[in-house]
Amino acid sequence: MTLDSMANKPFPKIITIDGPAASGKSTLGKRLADELEYLFFDTGVMYRAVTWLALQDGLEIEDEDRITLLAEGTDIDVRAPSLDDGRQNDILADGRDITWQIRLPEVDANVSLVSSYGGVRDALTIQQRRIGQRGKVVMVGRDIGTVVLPDADLKIYLDASAEERARRRYHEQCERGEESDQAQILGAMRKRDKFDSTRAVAPLRAAPDAVIIFSDNMDADQVLHTALQLVHQRSL
Ligand code: C5P
Repeated sequence: MTLDSMANKPFPKIITIDGPAASGKSTLGKRLADELEYLFFDTGVMYRAVTWLALQDGLEIEDEDRITLLAEGTDIDVRAPSLDDGRQNDILADGRDITWQIRLPEVDANVSLVSSYGGVRDALTIQQRRIGQRGKVVMVGRDIGTVVLPDADLKIYLDASAEERARRRYHEQCERGEESDQAQILGAMRKRDKFDSTRAVAPLRAAPDAVIIFSDNMDADQVLHTALQLVHQRSL
């Protein structure tokens, strides 16, 4: 199947991709968006940005009220990449470039708690919905198909075993020349998945009408091909 063969058919306008940490959501989302000439929007960066700013400001990470105020008062912007340093987008907080800061281990360690706060989610969900409802978007996260855009035309839930996800993250970090420990990654990832899937507000789970792709034995091209087939099937 090629995109040409779909040329006369309308594609689904809103595509959501949810799933656990390091399941390949961003890789798939970016490639799918590029193929379809849609906007790629990774919502995890917004929760990461609030977490990094809270740590930077010296706020207690348990201080839900102050962190909620921070989320409500910060303009988080996602733009096309301005530098060719491996980034998928520029992430700006009140105009300041924090693209790489939000990937620091201290953000990984605290982002699940910050994203469990109802007020933080409300503030960020409003911004995400506004962007999503414009259409022609591939939006990636944990609750996009269930909460943010429940009327999306195509919902994908991308999953893989924790071991495989830790292995992929380990290789990514090694390729970037960073120090990495696979067992430590696996432990931290399991902790984050558990927190994300058991929180009271908007927990990580597949929407009832999501298509589940389990990618342990698939490479990135095969995952993209499967997603494009789904796009084709949903094109009316
Ligand atoms: O996808 P990524 O690993 O960058 O997401 C970081 C964290 O942000 C997740 O572990 C989760 O706690 C939170 N998140 C969320 N809802 C989203 C996207 C991310 O709660 N839609």
